[in-house]
Amino acid sequence: MGFSLKAMWQYKCPRCRKGNMFKKPFQLSSPLAMNDRCEVCNLKMEPEPGFYFGAMFLSYVIASFMFLVPTLLLVFVLKWSSTAALTFTFIFAAITYIRFLRGSRALWLHINVKYNPSFIKK
Ligand SMILES: [Zn+2]
Repeated sequence: MGFSLKAMWQYKCPRCRKGNMFKKPFQLSSPLAMNDRCEVCNLKMEPEPGFYFGAMFLSYVIASFMFLVPTLLLVFVLKWSSTAALTFTFIFAAITYIRFLRGSRALWLHINVKYNPSFIKK
């Protein structure tokens, strides 16, 4: 049934929306450590080698808009200097880096896998 922004935002498995996509606890040294399979419905988290290559383009497009729009607003609406606006954007990018990295993978898997609770292990 449809697309769940909430499940995606929480990095839940797209098929059962209960299992976690990424290994817990979070480790800064391996921010993209994913579970091989969903612990609830056994979905393979990397369906094929290079599956997340597409997520790279997706994150590029999303990040471009997420950074371009506020930067342009700061410069042209709030009349910040371009140096100040770029500094703000770099800090914003550094803070949201992991979020984008993981979020684009979650979005990509959610686009490609449909919700189907019948796979949940009883
Ligand atoms: Zn699952």
